Amino acid sequence: MSGRGTERAYYDADVLVIGGGPAGLAAAIRARWVKGYRALVSSVALFDPSPPGGLLRWGGCVLSGPSWSEPGSLVLDRLAADLDRFSIPLIRREVVSIDRRDALFSLTLDDRTVWTGRSVVLATGFRPMRLSPSSFHNGVWMTYKGNDFLPSLLDAAAKQAGDGDLLIVGRWASSELLPFLFSIRRQGKKVSFLLEEETCSEGHSEVSSALRAFEALGPVYFGRLIGLETAAKGHPRRVLIEPFPRRMPREVDARTKRRASQWPSAACPAPRPDSAPEDAEAPRGRPAEHASRPAEGRLGLSWRQGDETPPPHAAPSPPWSIEVGAIFIDYRAFEISPYLNIRGKLPKRDRRGFIAVDASMGTSIPGFFAAGDITGRYASTLSALGDGVVAGFSAHRHAFRMKFGEEPRLFAYRADAGELQGNRGDLPKLPDAGVPIVLGDRIERTTAVLRALDDRTPLAELRARFDPQELDSTLERLIERKDLTIHVEGP
Ligand SMILES: Cc1cc2nc3c(=O)[nH]c(=O)nc-3n(C[C@H](O)[C@H](O)[C@H](O)COP(=O)(O)OP(=O)(O)OC[C@H]3O[C@@H](n4cnc5c(N)ncnc54)[C@H](O)[C@@H]3O)c2cc1C
Repeated sequence: MSGRGTERAYYDADVLVIGGGPAGLAAAIRARWVKGYRALVSSVALFDPSPPGGLLRWGGCVLSGPSWSEPGSLVLDRLAADLDRFSIPLIRREVVSIDRRDALFSLTLDDRTVWTGRSVVLATGFRPMRLSPSSFHNGVWMTYKGNDFLPSLLDAAAKQAGDGDLLIVGRWASSELLPFLFSIRRQGKKVSFLLEEETCSEGHSEVSSALRAFEALGPVYFGRLIGLETAAKGHPRRVLIEPFPRRMPREVDARTKRRASQWPSAACPAPRPDSAPEDAEAPRGRPAEHASRPAEGRLGLSWRQGDETPPPHAAPSPPWSIEVGAIFIDYRAFEISPYLNIRGKLPKRDRRGFIAVDASMGTSIPGFFAAGDITGRYASTLSALGDGVVAGFSAHRHAFRMKFGEEPRLFAYRADAGELQGNRGDLPKLPDAGVPIVLGDRIERTTAVLRALDDRTPLAELRARFDPQELDSTLERLIERKDLTIHVEGP
């Protein structure tokens, strides 16, 4: 495959897959392999800043039935082996925006490189993952199992936090944890919040009351978790936060501004033991000397001028480093509403913020597919894998139709009426405008024809240079081995 920076490339890959969790891996492998028999496969590029596996790398995600249970590594090892075998490039970068022009998609990565392709599969899960799975239960906790387990999980995390803050990473919906957190706070533990919320999609009054409730307990930061420095036992951990330039509803903004004038002297209070979160009123226009005294259950800002720790609600700046005792990722809140960190041309979402898909994993944008947790279907490894396979087939079909103006032959997965007419086999007729693209690195350049395949030379030119029979049989052999595909340049 071409990769970036090839001057002659009209586009980089037929299928661009964003997210290397089970859904993205299944989609990428399917589009690159299509089926065990003859098929002209798609070229594929996969993007994820983390190693392949997504949540599957975290110990809690197992494959199970009522009477059996297998570790996630069982399937992850196989997927990783296929990724390797088919030389599917995994670009360890985050996709920051998606654009579409002239029937091509372009992805901009966090290093500002741009990749173009004919189809996109979005498989970003509930949220981007930046932490190492080895931190699971080692300073990092998350909601799992059922609701009944929440109090004990939070207690265990707070215990591990020791004298440091228990940082809750969540969404507005994390306000549902507040009763449990108040109980933890009453035990003398400190709590702070990192809300992975860039904009306020919820009703204004809900947002302001949720914010007020969080602030009643501890500092609130708006940004996303991008790193963690683990520490020796008993020592605080430092988390790295990328702050968001928040766009809040006007009324919250005004409150935030008022409060900003109080930051330098505001102190973190012990909450009133039995205060309901809604009771916590924002103090208005309090003089600084009063604000420096803890106002019970009212103001939850602990930043002081001169501290290394940034002020909550501050303007965007380089990543912040904050000391905490432990982290609790409230995946339950992300299941209620996902955090998708990509801008630009995105398909329609449902009212919860998930990407709306049809039965083929298609979205409101032709050629744009989605699979796995970002679609808001049931969160399970097996369905993510299954939906990934469907999205992979669909993305391949779309790219194929764009290239050859006809359907790919996908029998026995999906036969099309009329595909046997004219005794056509499984491969399409390769047009003169086609450009052979070598996939992977298994081809030894032993003949002039094989050497010529590296130059992105259109078939018309190759047909004029080489014996057509030798050329055709070479191409067919490589296509059959899934070492070659054909790009067709132009819309
Ligand atoms: C706590 C917990 C326990 C679970 N336990 C089980 C279980 O026991 N059994 C079970 O079947 N299921 C379980 N699940 C559900 C299962 O883990 C998920 O349904 C599955 O992992 C979803 O796969 P995915 O590929 O959609 O998303 P993920 O696994 O979340 O992978 C998404 C990937 O996309 C990447 N990404 C995000 N944004 C970007 C971007 N902008 N650019 C590039 N890459 C990006 C992320 O880094 C991540 O690697 C559990 C889930 C949780 C949260």
